[in-house]
Amino acid sequence: MSGRRLEGRVALVTGAASGIGAACARRFAEEGARVAGIDLAPAPGDGDWAAAVKAAPDSLFEQADVCDEAAVNRIADATRDALGSIDVLVNAAGVPGGGAAHQIALEDWDRTIAVNLRGTLLPSRAVLPGMLEQRSGSIIHIASVEGIEGFEGGSAYNASKGAVVLLTRNMAIDYGRRGIRVNAICPGFIDTPMLRGLFGMEGLSDVAERIREAHQLGRFGRAEEIANAALFLASDESSFVTGVALPVDGGYTAGHRFGVASMMGLD
Ligand code: NAP
Repeated sequence: MSGRRLEGRVALVTGAASGIGAACARRFAEEGARVAGIDLAPAPGDGDWAAAVKAAPDSLFEQADVCDEAAVNRIADATRDALGSIDVLVNAAGVPGGGAAHQIALEDWDRTIAVNLRGTLLPSRAVLPGMLEQRSGSIIHIASVEGIEGFEGGSAYNASKGAVVLLTRNMAIDYGRRGIRVNAICPGFIDTPMLRGLFGMEGLSDVAERIREAHQLGRFGRAEEIANAALFLASDESSFVTGVALPVDGGYTAGHRFGVASMMGLD
């Protein structure tokens, strides 16, 4: 038996051109999966994503909007036709978006909820019939720590990610008897183009530093660290894990530090 953890599996990954989705695609390909990627952005033309994923036999990539039902269904069908099945889905496409509730523009609210929530539902609907038929599958939603606790100014983003966490639990209940596991990963703040874009905004460098400090490990996460958790959830190593919202957050949601640990010499 091969030692690679996803040998023979097919994974569909949304948001596969950047950040966490790209890291998942790359890590899964390293572990023997054939990977189909979807993203609004074009596939990275070079670098290790291309080396690991594009060079992997039969891997596919299509530029599409995860809110577009027809496009998502077409890509899922094409993936099954070309690669035989879809065994794993990672929903990593997402957008930031917030503002206080009385200030956020409704079109911004609608877009954030659409991409993060409808854009999680549609790929799930596209892969579920095949998974139901084969009576197996692993669906992984990339939610956020902001889906399990509040964050100032978060509004639309937090609401969308909180909804993804509950969608995860409901899907785990609905499909568990058919051998389909559904889990969410709740990343802390991860160094990706999305985070760099946000922290690049004027006046946010001090805020970024305080957010970094709120992670008990004292640093931001790396996309590869989320991909490793996704690999666990995608593989048979997590065969008894379903319905969880797994924080992979360097201790961000563990609690607070107010200086007592420092008084004890624990800097
Ligand atoms: P990223 O680097 O911006 O990657 C997200 C990718 O999704 C981008 O390539 C983006 O394309 C694509 N995308 C956006 N809207 C799409 C749509 N409608 N259809 C298809 N693709 C779309 O961000 P990331 O940090 O890796 O985030 C990945 C996921 O992790 C998101 O769901 C995010 O909310 C979540 N997350 C991130 C963090 C963090 O700190 N980075 C923390 C918690 C959760 P464009 O660039 O063209 O928009």
